[in-house]
Amino acid sequence: MTYGTMAAPESNPRANAALADGCEVCNGWGSVITFQGRYELCQACQSPTERECHDSG
Ligand SMILES: [Zn+2]
Repeated sequence: MTYGTMAAPESNPRANAALADGCEVCNGWGSVITFQGRYELCQACQSPTERECHDSG
């Protein structure tokens, strides 16, 4: 039952590769390195505040 391996200390946050594809800000990584040297989601393509579901109608 190796479902959900928590032994993966990823430094970078979860980024949607689909959204990051073609992004020139993060070069398709989905995450950018801040001034403090930490990984953060790319505000250009990830845009967490933006609604996920597309418009209907
Ligand atoms: Zn990006």
